[in-house]
Amino acid sequence: MIRFGPSGNSESFYEEGNKASLQMPGWLRKKGLEAYEYQCGKGVKISKETAHKLGQEAELNDIFLSIHSPYYINLASTEKEKRDNSIKYIIESLEAASWMGASRIVVHIGSCSKVSREWALDTAIKTLKIAISEADGMGLGNISICPEVLGKKNQLGDLDEILDICGNDDRLIPTIDFGHLHARGMGALKSKSDFSSVLYKIESKLGIDRLRKIHIHFSRIEFTKGGEKRHWTLDDTQYGPEFEPLAQLICEKAMEPVVICESRGNMAEDALKLKSIYKTIFGEVNI
Ligand SMILES: [Zn+2]
Repeated sequence: MIRFGPSGNSESFYEEGNKASLQMPGWLRKKGLEAYEYQCGKGVKISKETAHKLGQEAELNDIFLSIHSPYYINLASTEKEKRDNSIKYIIESLEAASWMGASRIVVHIGSCSKVSREWALDTAIKTLKIAISEADGMGLGNISICPEVLGKKNQLGDLDEILDICGNDDRLIPTIDFGHLHARGMGALKSKSDFSSVLYKIESKLGIDRLRKIHIHFSRIEFTKGGEKRHWTLDDTQYGPEFEPLAQLICEKAMEPVVICESRGNMAEDALKLKSIYKTIFGEVNI
């Protein structure tokens, strides 16, 4: 089934008096959501005990868990020490995921600002393969690593690069951040055919089964010529992209992705709005 949820905790979650992420699964279920991306962007700091409890809450409330691994991962660093550390952060994220029963971790591949894109891609793939074999050795191979399409042009992770990376292991699932794609392409996602060509590329490279279960990040986004500037909410309609054309394609292709909303402050509320757009279109397609 398709699932919708927020990245991190909405401002309203705290305004309503909640304090800990442990309360999120129950809160999300009451709102009508089904997924939660737990943020480890600044480091994997959750204890085993808390992760266990979060996992129990998620199971009780039927919330699909994923983890966003640290932003400072750089699998394409020119320094071996930084690449080794990046492997360590991936393993830490996978461990935390196993404690909480999360089945996906989202990973930023890295930067290519000081080196050629070819060297960076090649290095990132090699480093990721080491991380995967370490994970397999630790019994963590059942958790999917989901390399993310990034929003700044000097980051490694345009659509082709992410699909190339995911081509190396059947278990890799691409995180397609449509805001990032829109920003990288200077407003590239407008018509349904713009979205369709993205999905077509994924299907051609990774097959229909992996296309159907991609990890999606969605929010409106502001960009400059370097790409992503900042995420906005669905009410900030001066910024794209729109969700409707994507929702139509999700229905037509019978996709069952996890859709994580990254709106600023309002991520849970906006995840619900995305869900309601999808449900309206799903109803129309299936009359
Ligand atoms: Zn991300």
